[in-house]
Amino acid sequence: MNPWLRSDGRIYPGAAIGVLGSGQLGRMFAIAARRMGYRVHTYSPESDTPTGQVSDVEINAPYEDLDKVRAFARNVSAVTFEFENVPADTAAACAECARVRPAGDVLHTTQHRLREKTFLKNSGLPHTPFEAVRSLAELEAALVKLGTPAILKTAGFGYDGKGQIRIQSPDEAAAAWTKLATHEAVLEAFVDFAIEVSVVAARGMDGDFRHYGVVENAHRNHILDVTLAPARVTPAIAKEAVDIARTVFEKLNVIGVLCVEFFLTKSGKLMINELAPRPHNSGHFSFDACLTSQFEQQLRAVCGFPLGATDLLRPAAMANLLGDLWEHGEPNWQAALAAPEVKLHLYGKLSARKGRKMGHLTALHEDPETARRLVIEARNALTNPHV
Ligand code: AMP
Repeated sequence: MNPWLRSDGRIYPGAAIGVLGSGQLGRMFAIAARRMGYRVHTYSPESDTPTGQVSDVEINAPYEDLDKVRAFARNVSAVTFEFENVPADTAAACAECARVRPAGDVLHTTQHRLREKTFLKNSGLPHTPFEAVRSLAELEAALVKLGTPAILKTAGFGYDGKGQIRIQSPDEAAAAWTKLATHEAVLEAFVDFAIEVSVVAARGMDGDFRHYGVVENAHRNHILDVTLAPARVTPAIAKEAVDIARTVFEKLNVIGVLCVEFFLTKSGKLMINELAPRPHNSGHFSFDACLTSQFEQQLRAVCGFPLGATDLLRPAAMANLLGDLWEHGEPNWQAALAAPEVKLHLYGKLSARKGRKMGHLTALHEDPETARRLVIEARNALTNPHV
């Protein structure tokens, strides 16, 4: 019995929403949810987490402890995710007790590169050329088909370039296969792209689809570095990317937020690199720069309310703050905040490791290029000496 789930299928403010996972995406979701009068419970194997710090309840238990997972789900009206690598049994245990969005089968497809790419292929959606690889012999055969350079990726549980090896020539196959240490992988052709872009969008229970336009993403060491909204692409490319994203939502039957990451080749061809069935780092700018943020949109979709308008109030640029910035002591917040157009987001993480996402900056300006300059200057200023 769920007192907050009304006969119209909506979950009203006052209800508790559960978040599986406890990182920065859950934190920003929780902030949006609490602003609209919901309670938030978070579940993960850690404590004093970015999400837990701003939630009503923080449960600290393994994802595999299905009795604890069921107890968590019984106390909330809906469960959502902040990362897709949740075990399928955990999602299924939640579904016994509460509404789960996005649905378990969306997670099942998108948490596994091979299933995801097979879905794209079968749906006629443009994707990077790939081959399934389950042995060294299959890897060698795939290298003949796709050529080199190529990228070997584990089929499951990979993000931010983890579980990936670039293969420059066929004689590196054996070493790469041993190093990846997996039974199932995907070999992808190396795409010599012009830029990377993404579309973050949402679909409501009523089928309404709203998107945040096409944004441009620069990566450093496989980790997102800077996002520029809007992307510097032609209107025709922007329309094509949004149309592809809409098709992904419909074919996967997604209710919630999903990000489609693309490569844009030098000849103007869009290829999907990856799908993420949740708010995404490349949509963080929406927190400050859009009428409705991607996090509020996720809440609206999960609870069955109409989606909000996604208008970009001003062009924006977002720069990630990695733990590396803490190497020589506390960053110089004062210097970074000297430009009044710059907004600071910190995730409350207790230790700053190299490569760990600790926060981000967003700069807003009528001129996108100026927004980008401002955010990069602000980030550079973080390592200025303290006066
Ligand atoms: P992923 O974790 O698969 O999204 O990869 C992280 C980043 O590695 C991407 O955003 C790209 O910058 C780069 N990358 C991944 N796959 C390829 C590819 N097939 N060709 C070129 N660059 C790639």
